[in-house]
Amino acid sequence: MSKEIVTFRDSNAAVLFKKTEKVEKFDRSLAILADKMGEIMEKADGLGLAAPQVNSKLAVCLVKNGKKIVVFCNPKILDYSSEKDIMEEGCLSFPDIFLQVPRARSISIEYKDLKGKKKKIEAEGIFARAIQHEVDHLSGIVFTNRAGNKLIF
Ligand SMILES: [Zn+2]
Repeated sequence: MSKEIVTFRDSNAAVLFKKTEKVEKFDRSLAILADKMGEIMEKADGLGLAAPQVNSKLAVCLVKNGKKIVVFCNPKILDYSSEKDIMEEGCLSFPDIFLQVPRARSISIEYKDLKGKKKKIEAEGIFARAIQHEVDHLSGIVFTNRAGNKLIF
């Protein structure tokens, strides 16, 4: 596992359990952060990555949709479908741990892109699941909190 990713066993793991701060400046340093996160995510073969996982306090996460990477700044899930699916989930910050996690099958989400432009999309299936996982990270919530089977560390 890459040392660039904070795991729950690391001395700086507290960053994983804190609420992030809203992005206010849509500047070059934000684009650089998103770029770096994209590289780290691809290298780790992940489906998504949230800023706290690279020790950043900003409300930014990346989620893959097919081959495309979508960058979400200040995301807010507006609507969850009442239909839920339970599927096995993992997290780059919890290596080798896989849990059955219930998530809404589809969601609608509002966010800003890297230029600060407001967007709203609908997502379903794996894409929706990954967004819910990453948006949770921005509130300091990790997937073990969402799993039916509780883990004690
Ligand atoms: Zn995660």
